[in-house]
Amino acid sequence: MTLIDSHPDAGLAPLEFAVTKNLRAKSPEEREQLLRDPAFGTTFTDHMVDICWSVRGGWHRPRVQPYGPIALDPAAAVLHYGQEIFEGIKAYRHADGSVHTFRPDQNGRRLQRSARRLALPELPVEYFIQSLRELIAVDGDWVPAGDDQSLYLRPFMFAKEAFLGVRGAHKVAYYLIASPVGPYFTGGAKPVSIWLSEQYSRAGKGGTGAAKTGGNYAASLLPQAEAYEQGCDQVVFLDQDRHVEELGGMNIVFVHKDGTIVTPQSDSILEGITRDSLLQLARDRGHKVEARPVSLDEWRQGVASGDIVEVFACGTAAVVAPIGTLKGAGFVEEQPLGELALSLREELTDIQYGRREDKHGWLVRLDA
Ligand code: PLP
Repeated sequence: MTLIDSHPDAGLAPLEFAVTKNLRAKSPEEREQLLRDPAFGTTFTDHMVDICWSVRGGWHRPRVQPYGPIALDPAAAVLHYGQEIFEGIKAYRHADGSVHTFRPDQNGRRLQRSARRLALPELPVEYFIQSLRELIAVDGDWVPAGDDQSLYLRPFMFAKEAFLGVRGAHKVAYYLIASPVGPYFTGGAKPVSIWLSEQYSRAGKGGTGAAKTGGNYAASLLPQAEAYEQGCDQVVFLDQDRHVEELGGMNIVFVHKDGTIVTPQSDSILEGITRDSLLQLARDRGHKVEARPVSLDEWRQGVASGDIVEVFACGTAAVVAPIGTLKGAGFVEEQPLGELALSLREELTDIQYGRREDKHGWLVRLDA
């Protein structure tokens, strides 16, 4: 039984996508050139998927069409009230040429949870996975084959109804675009430095922190700019009780001396699929895993006493980034570096690229 069959949406009739080929698609030579060294999120494939939703018609007009600008009414609700959600997931080329993605049911369900919080319609997980397949059917050649390369898939949904009243939109669009990407960090997963944001928070109790919605990222841009000013790569956020939440776009994990792995848990943190997978691999190796609130004091004291032996961040884009430095107002603390983060990273990427057995049935083939 595949993961897809086990979902409650299983059994839905597949959508019938109308496909319009891009007559200005890149030539194989142009594409090869673009795939050589793609910078994150700057190059896009020849096509995109879109599905409309309305209160009356439900999900309708599924299309694959040439990648290009979207015409929006200036009164479209997303432009005023930010009613928008998105996902991030990758397609990997295996040595035999086949194309696979990783736990798409989880991204599909998270998109549904985000939709619920943002008063958007829930796209059935089957349609979500079908949209990935439809795009790969036309743009499969864009999945790069180089080391640590992949095709980053960006599904998103927004309120397109032209209406300035403040309520959930009655017309919504779902899109899927794709962008070939290389390794997030050149020269391997080098340790990153983190700026502790004390002035700004990312999410509040009962807010949208657990949803993947643009507003959370908009709110992180100023603290992220502050991090750069402080010479740091990323920002880490605390909640109102000075518990550690997460980075702007990655979850955080602490490794303790006795092998216990601890990660912050709260309803204002995005539940990362990379984190969940790494923690499962750690459990498979016999590590004890705890998801619970972690205070800033516990972090700093744990590092000072030697109880915490490794700290790392994780997410789809970078996979795993060891944290080398924590800097805050008035302090800079070096973080201990260990072996576990990079060894879990290798195990996970080996599974994703088909180099190691996929014991948990996480991979879903997209090109067949
Ligand atoms: N936290 C935030 C705020 C994110 O944007 C992301 C996205 O990558 C993550 C955590 C990690 O989630 P995932 O592992 O599903 O990519």
